[in-house]
Order: sequence, then structure tokens, then C-alpha cells
Amino acid sequence: MSFIAELSERMPQRVHAPGTPEYEAGATVFIGQGTPDAVVRPTSAAEVGEAVRAAVTAGVPLSVRSGGHGSDPVSGGVVIDLGELAHVEVGEGGLVHVGGGAHWGGVADALAPHALGITSGDTRDVGVGGLALGGGAGWLVRLHGLTIDILTEVELVTADGSVLTVDADSHPELFWALRGGGGNFGVATRFTFRAAPVDGLVGGHVLFDQSDLPSVLRAWRDVMVDAPDELNSTLAVMPPLMPEMPAGPMLQVALLGSEAELRRLLEPLLSLPSVTAVALAPVDYPDLLEEAPPGMPPFVMVADGGFVPELTDEALDAFARTVEGELPTMLIMRALGGAFSRVPSDATPIAYRDSVALAVATTLLPADADAAQVAAAKVPLESTVEFTRGVYSNFSHEHDDQVLARVFPPETLERLRRVKAQYDPGDVFRATHHIAP
Ligand SMILES: Cc1cc2nc3c(=O)[nH]c(=O)nc-3n(C[C@H](O)[C@H](O)[C@H](O)COP(=O)(O)OP(=O)(O)OC[C@H]3O[C@@H](n4cnc5c(N)ncnc54)[C@H](O)[C@@H]3O)c2cc1C
Repeated sequence: MSFIAELSERMPQRVHAPGTPEYEAGATVFIGQGTPDAVVRPTSAAEVGEAVRAAVTAGVPLSVRSGGHGSDPVSGGVVIDLGELAHVEVGEGGLVHVGGGAHWGGVADALAPHALGITSGDTRDVGVGGLALGGGAGWLVRLHGLTIDILTEVELVTADGSVLTVDADSHPELFWALRGGGGNFGVATRFTFRAAPVDGLVGGHVLFDQSDLPSVLRAWRDVMVDAPDELNSTLAVMPPLMPEMPAGPMLQVALLGSEAELRRLLEPLLSLPSVTAVALAPVDYPDLLEEAPPGMPPFVMVADGGFVPELTDEALDAFARTVEGELPTMLIMRALGGAFSRVPSDATPIAYRDSVALAVATTLLPADADAAQVAAAKVPLESTVEFTRGVYSNFSHEHDDQVLARVFPPETLERLRRVKAQYDPGDVFRATHHIAP
């Protein structure tokens, strides 16, 4: 009997073959459609353990899916799709328990009646699992840090199928590794986060025409360098990509405070002659989160950039050069500092905590782009490297040893490998940024 037939017998109704909607959903990720042999949708940590044990015993490769926004499509093997583990429970003292397959939009919606939010990413469909294990930067990053900074406990299914409760006291090295080391150590079936009040947010966007990018970048830098932690912002420079997305610089902001205060803080930007539209108003936290871009065809993303220690004029000019070419390139600069920078650089695998921004330039190529086209697209993005340190794993779409060495400083990578050797010596979990034992 084949492995899939055997697994279907052991876990009836959980194993889905090609042609079923559950298979299609589990096999599809943001950048394309995979062809695994089967998709398993467990409904508990114990069932995840059963699926892991069965795959390991049979020597069948497995991959884990939460929101599917950070993986490549897989061919063959088994996908463990955590879609059934999407619960959100508000516990004592602002602690919130979230299933490893929940999406951030669902989490924000579930917390809204409690006037709570979790510092996390800014797209609704992105999964809790991948984003949280890789760091997690979003609308509250300067106020409450990364998602991993407010993570207090993880329920983890390890390579032998055991279910561990991992926190600062129980398996502390594993807990350190899970806060940025990705899905290399097991399947996270439940996360516990410390949520924070999000009542009284104001936010929105300001659009600029393309006439004076250098002034927009400088004004943004000057606003954010002295801004209170309550102000979070992203400056995106968009290529003409889709009719519903205007090309040119777009500032997105959120402030825990009043609209008058927001307009006062943004004055250097609002007074620029290149402003074409201003939309700022009180907003609920869930409404700050966006849907992933609709109807994007499969594509190849070529990206570079990372953590910015200082937004000098030279650095800003280098970032601006990435969007000057013919290819559709978007530049996204997210302000850091604040609570992000109050966490010591060795407290989690995400280092470079003294950074003031994250700057990433991404070029979208057609899915059939060949190696030469990819290599050519990388060249204009390389001007970012001189002005950044490391790369943020969640925003890095390439994964090989060279990229891994940029994601983690050497001593961090060594420490992660030691944890990997202890908890997954057989290298069962080969996450997007694969850390070998
Ligand atoms: C449109 C878009 C917007 C984004 N916005 C942000 C943002 O605002 N902030 C930010 O920080 N990042 C953002 N990201 C990056 C995102 O955090 C990563 O792509 C992340 O990996 C996505 O997680 P996922 O669960 O959706 O992906 P998946 O593809 O499901 O998982 C990604 C990786 O994590 C592993 N994994 C997932 N869940 C688990 C689990 N429960 N246990 C063990 N391993 C697991 C997978 O095996 C895989 O290796 C964005 C990405 C996209 C495409």
C-alpha cells in the first residue's frame, strides 16, 4: 500500500488528494501552485504529531503551510496545512492564544471587540505561523516591537511527533530559536502573544507624484527620526503595476493618537508640492491591514535590501536609484527604531536591532524568467547593499547559504544550528530559510 493510502486509512478525512478543494488550497502558495502527493489538514496538535511521525517513519518529505505567503510551491511529499488550527482565544491579562494556521486578518478581527491588537504584519492573508516564526514587522512595530517580541509561548510538535510547550523557562534555547529562526525546529500549532490596546488609532495614506522622490525620501527621514513610538510608517515607491495601485511614492501611516497630532507630525511631508492626495482619518486596527494584491499572475520576485543603520542622503539616493530602471521595481521602506530597537540584538535571532528602517527593493519578473534575466534584474538592486546590514528573513525571497549568512550574523547562525541539532537532528523540517543541523 502506498504511503498516502496508508496515511488516509490512519487519518480518515484529514488526507486530501489532488482534485479536491482542500488539496488545491493546501498546494497553492502566494507565488504559485505546487504538486505535493497529498495535503493533510490536522485538527489538533496530536494529529499533527501523527502526520509528522508517519511521514518521518516512511521517509516522505513534508512541508508545513500556514498562510502560504512565504513558501515556494512544493513538488511531491506531504503538505501539512494548518488551516484547521486557526482559533483565536483571548485569555487572562491580554494574553491571546492563536492557532498556527490562523491568518493575521482573522486575528485582528477576533481581537477588535476587545480593543486589542497584536503587533504583526500588515496583510490580512499572511499566516500567523510563517510571519511569527520569522520576526513579524507591521503597524505597531515601533510601539510594541516585532511579533516575536510579544510572543510568550509556543506549542510545538517536534520531529518525533511529541508536543512540547516552549517558553522562556521550558526549553529556553528552543524558545530563543523560534523567535526568528523560522520553521526549522518543528510545527508550531499554537502561539501565545501579549496583545496591546489599539483604541484611538488614526491612519491612512499620502500620495505623491513622481516629480521629486529625493525630497519625499528626505522629508520622510526627517519626520521619522524624531517621531514618537506611536507613529509608524511605510514609504512605498510603486511601479506602474496594476490600475488600482497608483505609481509613485505612497506614504502609509498609523498613529495611536489624534488626527491633529498626525497632521502636525507629518507637516514636512504634507507641505511638499508633489503631494497629490491625502487621506487621513480615525481607523480601526483591522482596517489598517490590507488584502494581498489581487489577481497577480505567478511571478519571480527578485529582491535586495535589509536593515538600515542610518538614513543618510547618500543612502536615500541609493535606494531611489533602484526604481529608476525599466523593470517594474517597488521600493518599500518601513520605519523601525522605538520598541524594535529596545530589544537587545542577541535576545532573538533577529539581530540589527539598532536599525532605523528596513529598505527592500523588489522587482517582479514573469514566472518564466530565465537565470540571465534574474541575474540582470539583481544588478540595479545591489546599490542598497552598501547602506544596509543583514536581510530580514521574512522579506527575502531567495534562500541559499549565501542568503542565510546575510539573514543571521555568524554567531546567531551557529547558535541556531546547535538548537537544530538538538531538536531536529534528522533535518525533517526544511523551512524556507533552511538551517541544517
Ligand atoms: C503580500 C505579502 C505581505 C507581507 N507583509 C508582511 C509584513 O507586513 N510584515 C512581515 O513581517 N512580513 C510580511 N510578509 C512576509 C511574511 O511574513 C512571510 O512571507 C511569511 O513567511 C509568511 O508566512 P505564511 O505563514 O503566510 O507562509 P507559509 O508559506 O505558510 O510559511 C512560510 C514558512 O514558515 C513555515 N511555517 C509556517 N507556519 C508554520 C508553523 N505553524 N510551524 C512551523 N513552520 C511554519 C513554512 O513551513 C515555511 O517555511 C509579507 C509577505 C507577502 C507575500
